[in-house]
Amino acid sequence: MKCNIICKFASGTIGIRKRQMNGNTVNIDTKTVERLETLVRASGKVSIVAHIRPDGDAVGSTLAMLHYLLSRGKDAVVIYSDPLPETLAFMLRGTPEENVLQWPSDSDSARERIAGSDLIFCLDCNSFSRTGDLEPMLRAARCSKVLIDHHLAPDAESFDVIFSETAVSSACELLFNVLMSMPDIHADASLIPAISATSLMTGMTTDTNNFANSVYPSTLTMASALLGVGVDRDAILSNLYQSGTEKRVRLWGYMLYQNMKLTDDDVAYMILTEEIASEFNISEGETEGLVNEPLRIASVKMSIFLKQDDAGFFRVSIRSKKGFSAVGCSKAYFHGGGHENASGGRLFFKANDGNPADISSPSQAEKYLLKVTSEYFKSGDYESR
Ligand code: 5GP
Ligand code: MN
Repeated sequence: MKCNIICKFASGTIGIRKRQMNGNTVNIDTKTVERLETLVRASGKVSIVAHIRPDGDAVGSTLAMLHYLLSRGKDAVVIYSDPLPETLAFMLRGTPEENVLQWPSDSDSARERIAGSDLIFCLDCNSFSRTGDLEPMLRAARCSKVLIDHHLAPDAESFDVIFSETAVSSACELLFNVLMSMPDIHADASLIPAISATSLMTGMTTDTNNFANSVYPSTLTMASALLGVGVDRDAILSNLYQSGTEKRVRLWGYMLYQNMKLTDDDVAYMILTEEIASEFNISEGETEGLVNEPLRIASVKMSIFLKQDDAGFFRVSIRSKKGFSAVGCSKAYFHGGGHENASGGRLFFKANDGNPADISSPSQAEKYLLKVTSEYFKSGDYESR
């Protein structure tokens, strides 16, 4: 399989290299690793960030990097742009509280920390523009910056060292391969700190929806290596999939039974309004994964989930089957982006940043969705390339 890997060095040159995947491993560029090692050695204070509304891959990759750096004696801290959802709180077990800052409650410490960092890692996020309120601080920081990410279109200009690869399951998988290439680990997974190994396995599991999508030979190689060094997958599965609330399961049942509708173009959609969320007392993270469920229906090509946010918009999640582009729909109609078959964005019912609202009120969301999906499927742009 031919893949592109983008490497950028301190000199400022960006090289797009054709590289061969040997089937089992993600090839990590040696020169880029050397550059990273030099930066890590030279740095004391390190900050690690990920995308807004952190998911399992964002939390897994940042915690894995945190514990790797702590094991090297660095003064490292993770800064999340939003509070972690309750469903992922278990991932923080074993991480000292002082090594995790959350916006906005720790905003003063986060601001000070970013400005005083020697090195910043941006994980599971292709651009500082996806770091919410942290963006201006991260852009203004005068230190070296490293990107390790699996999304399309990395913002190469903003980083000194880049590991960018889309042909992997997750940022966790790419980070696993970067760590395995570091001189102190030298391809021996048993030298990855245990808590990093567990975090990597957890993030990969959530981003693949428990091995249901985006699984590459290298994903299974990673999983095998991590199981081999003692990662407890049963505990991860129990924490992720068997520790939820009753209200969450009842909401899912309600949404699929009462709320889900199908369009003439075989698009399934669900709209979770504030009223429904408060009726079920739903908390952040409890709808994660719901958008996948309608894809169980044979005829359904794409599933769209709208969730009303109190800041004047619906958060949009889109999943599609092979051959249909979710990201195309997010980009064209929902100010968003993401991956070919898993993407997201926003639908504004209030003007935002000087831009007009997409719809005049939340009640217009369904009409908008029907109009744009019909347009999308008529246009022919829905086909995956
Ligand atoms: P989710 O539906 O799980 O929130 O997001 C699925 C994918 O779409 C993730 O890879 C995420 O990074 C991407 N995504 C979600 N929301 C946005 C958005 O507002 N803008 C962009 N560019 N990507 C998004
Ligand atoms: Mn990810």
